[in-house]
Amino acid sequence: MTTTASAFPTGTILGYPRIGRRRELKKAVEAFWAGRIDAEELEAAAAALRNTTRERLVSLGLGRTDSSIPESFSYYDQVLDAAVTVGAIPARFADLVDAAGHLDLAGYFTLARGAGENLPLEMTKWFDSNYHYLVPEIGPETTFSLASDRIVREFDEAVAAGFLTRPVIVGPVTFLLLAKPSSDAPAGFHPLDRLDDLLPVYATLIERLAAAGAEWVQLDEPGLVSESIDIPRDAALAALARAYAVLGAVQNRPALFVAAPYGSLDDALPVLAGSAVEAIGLDLVRGTVPTSAAGLGETVLVAGVIDGHNIWRGDLAAAFETVGRLSALSDKIAVSSSTSLLHLPHDVTDESKLGADLPGWLAFADQKIGQVATLARGLTEGRAAIQADLDAATASLAARRVSPGVRDGAVRARLESLTPADFSRGDYETRVAAQEAVLDLPPLPTTTIGSFPQTGEIRRARARLVSGELAPADYQELMRAEIGRVVQLQEDLGLDVLVHGEPERNDMVQYFAENLDGFTVTENGWVQSYGSRCTRPSILWGDVSRPAPITVEWSSYTQSLTEKPVKGMLTGPVTILAWSFVRDDQPLGETARQVALALRDEIGDLEAAGIQVVQVDEPALRELLPLKKKDHADYLDWSVGSFRLATAGVADATQIHTHLCYSEFGVVIDAIRNLDADVTSIEAARSKMEVVADIQTSGFDHGIGPGVYDIHSPRVPGVAEITELLERALESIPARQVWVNPDCGLKTRGYAETVESLRNIVDATRAVRATLV
Ligand code: GLN
Ligand code: ZN
Repeated sequence: MTTTASAFPTGTILGYPRIGRRRELKKAVEAFWAGRIDAEELEAAAAALRNTTRERLVSLGLGRTDSSIPESFSYYDQVLDAAVTVGAIPARFADLVDAAGHLDLAGYFTLARGAGENLPLEMTKWFDSNYHYLVPEIGPETTFSLASDRIVREFDEAVAAGFLTRPVIVGPVTFLLLAKPSSDAPAGFHPLDRLDDLLPVYATLIERLAAAGAEWVQLDEPGLVSESIDIPRDAALAALARAYAVLGAVQNRPALFVAAPYGSLDDALPVLAGSAVEAIGLDLVRGTVPTSAAGLGETVLVAGVIDGHNIWRGDLAAAFETVGRLSALSDKIAVSSSTSLLHLPHDVTDESKLGADLPGWLAFADQKIGQVATLARGLTEGRAAIQADLDAATASLAARRVSPGVRDGAVRARLESLTPADFSRGDYETRVAAQEAVLDLPPLPTTTIGSFPQTGEIRRARARLVSGELAPADYQELMRAEIGRVVQLQEDLGLDVLVHGEPERNDMVQYFAENLDGFTVTENGWVQSYGSRCTRPSILWGDVSRPAPITVEWSSYTQSLTEKPVKGMLTGPVTILAWSFVRDDQPLGETARQVALALRDEIGDLEAAGIQVVQVDEPALRELLPLKKKDHADYLDWSVGSFRLATAGVADATQIHTHLCYSEFGVVIDAIRNLDADVTSIEAARSKMEVVADIQTSGFDHGIGPGVYDIHSPRVPGVAEITELLERALESIPARQVWVNPDCGLKTRGYAETVESLRNIVDATRAVRATLV
């Protein structure tokens, strides 16, 4: 093979936020979905955004023509892009593909969002981040071909604008590791079985990129850092060796940069080192510097020392020292972010309300690029050239340590005085009896996960409150009116345990962050969660405490409107941490216990106000699970402990619910049991109740509500479909344990589809109830 690549750039990043500094892509994509703009206009908006991004990256210190700019755009998701690129379109979507095998933009979005009876691809969390990718479906029947040349076109577009960028694609091994077997696949089949059929497509793609002038291409292989992937390690390593032997042997190819963010490569490093790959990206924030570089030869080691996963300015001098330790192993070294910067907001200077101190402690995506550029300069010009920058970062860290609010004596004293009894409730059967006595629920009780649709009206009212146009009392009136409508609707539908609908919450974490000490929120700090969905994580910077009750008035008002039980609704400590940017100066467990104590006080106040059911959402419990098994025990200990600390103060008769948002229940089943919630609702509809088998084998004996309505899609499930899902659940789980609910909150849905879906849920439940003996 021949590559005529220039040297790997000294400083780079693995990827950049795609949604746009002012969420331009989100707006354009949603306008396209709503029919307000056509595909051509969407393409034009996306091209403009890509060009602005490239110019911005150059102004921040990346090179215009040295392959340091990653071409990491996506309309929706990079794993979906890889699937579409290699033609892995599930059979149910075959109609979307034209005679030449191409899928247009509308078809691309249909895979992500579903249409009619055709369910979208399943969605799940991307490693230990809060980003969600779409799960490819691969079977023996999948035919691979280079079905989309979008990656090549975007590279061409950059060239035409005067850039030499670095195309990025999910690598073939990770692509298959993350895929699930198609519904037609026989038992025992794993997508990785198809590696040899897939590799020629990647080979063609990189050849095309070389022909277009690409010097380097980045293949993301984070699948190799994770141990939670259900394939034997040997098989994964063999696939890695095979993949890069094949791609390395391609005639006329770009140089290959294999990036492994989110953890350490461990035994996969020697495999890559022994392959033809020209550069390897190491995550040195999560992983450590390898002890030896044996076998690396000419391979460039790309030191991912700037944390792409959090917003702290961090210890730049320590990062430079890490680069130094890597330099001792090889003289071919470059500096990069540890992961794509996808997980970060754009720019600290877009924030005007962070106060005097905080901005200096932070680095968002643009500031991280500045840090990469600084370290790259240190690498070429020597430490003296960047000493002033290193010293400034060190001084900022020292100032942060002693800043008021970072440590609160009262909070610390309370944590010190905790005893094991603070973490335990009484015996479960006794609780069940006490709860039955006060709640009087039918079998298969129906409920929702908490939020109802956030209408334009609600959002406008909140915007007017924030801008000062609407007085707080008037805002409260509007929200109460909304709660009244939501309660009436639930009564009309015949649901059993009601919710207030969460209209007053902008976001389930930010709402609490705004009402707790120790947090701050941003104005423009948006990050992509999935597709066009973005969240604005809060910043947890100091010791946490609750200055006043938060939800009690809302919940007791709601309970005053109905005879049915109303669920109080709180976000759990793990989720508050997972969806915030959390201080990096103490262990997560310590921070989680501080949040738990604030929630414990809130639950006590709810109970005192007559609320009999309280749900503490922990949708992120699985997401924060460390990728390496050796770190699991410690994580499960503090995460489960903080949930228990928050919830264990209640009476037996108070029913504690929790909600978890994913379908891979198996890996955390013991932890979920240890939460000791009375009822746990989980996501199950999108994966058609696959999860209930895990529940059955685990012997889980508390209440469980496997979701019967996939709320990530606008599709309405029919009565027959819901009935079938319920029947499937009842095959594995005794009826006395089963609750009926949607997969998750309804906040992103419209009212029409929500009402229809909930009505179908109630109808299906009644039909199934009638069959119970
Ligand atoms: N109670 C929240 C809601 O319904 C839960 C959301 C979640 O799990 N992500 O919106
Ligand atoms: Zn959820």
